[in-house]
Amino acid sequence: MSAAPLLEVSDLVKHFPLKGGGVIHALNGVSLAQTPGETIGIVGESGCGKSTLARVILRLLEPTGGRITFEGRDLIGLSKPAMREKRRAMQMIFQDPLASLDPRFTIGAAIEEPLIIHGLGTKTERRAKVLELLDMVGLGTEAVSRYPHEFSGGQRQRIGIARALAVEPKLVIADEPVSALDVSIQSQILNLLAELRERLALSLLFISHDLAVVRYISDRIAVMYLGQIVEFGEADRIYRDAAHPYTQALISAVPEPMPGRRQQRIVLKGDVPNPESPPPGCPFHPRCPKAMAICRTDLPIENNLGTDARPHLVRCHLF
Ligand code: SF4
Repeated sequence: MSAAPLLEVSDLVKHFPLKGGGVIHALNGVSLAQTPGETIGIVGESGCGKSTLARVILRLLEPTGGRITFEGRDLIGLSKPAMREKRRAMQMIFQDPLASLDPRFTIGAAIEEPLIIHGLGTKTERRAKVLELLDMVGLGTEAVSRYPHEFSGGQRQRIGIARALAVEPKLVIADEPVSALDVSIQSQILNLLAELRERLALSLLFISHDLAVVRYISDRIAVMYLGQIVEFGEADRIYRDAAHPYTQALISAVPEPMPGRRQQRIVLKGDVPNPESPPPGCPFHPRCPKAMAICRTDLPIENNLGTDARPHLVRCHLF
């Protein structure tokens, strides 16, 4: 972790005020630093704040508090046009690429669009770039003149990846990019992302509710619960030696997480609490099988169970 961070998020807060009063506490002090070329997986159940985190980092949503720096530059202070320019280096891949593809435009036009928006290349250069991207994502250049409805889910996600990579970003934020796909197609798309990450030296922020998928692709994993990172460390260590009871429950739900070692499934009580009125103390305490009296009153602080060079951060009174 010696390289300067590409992306640094400090104490990020995002609250959504409700019309009739009350506030949704979507992010409650999230901090992480990502080095160039690193893949960080963000995992948690739906409603834990992971997609909000992605949108706040790109300032598609304005944060309520905290700091975001990218290549050492403070993003929160940037004007809207300066932020738009910065987004060239920070692209996003969505769960449903079709939603961002206009059915009236060919795939060639869809992939060329970000190049036009950012004023990159002549018409001939853009055309060559589109063909190169189609080839790179495994669609073949003949796809250029076809329309979105002619493609399967996996192929559409390849188009989404090509669109994101068109402007040569340094960071790609992928929000549930394989969740809508069949398992066999999921692994093809994950392999493609892993291969492109190496080839293009990309940093990847990979968001998913599925820990098995996140583990496959990530160098480090951050586990989120109710707007906070509750455990963060190297992917293998988190998977092999999870410390937080919530992470342990997520791992126990993955089928056959460790070949040859069956572990008992930890079934969590109830659902994620309403982020409008998060529980006092540790937000996980109403569902935690190891909750103690202190958990109902005091918010646990972050502890490092690893070393400074290889941190393993956990927020739990057990540590
Ligand atoms: Fe469970 Fe308490 Fe740890 Fe929260 S702080 S995860 S309630 S043991």
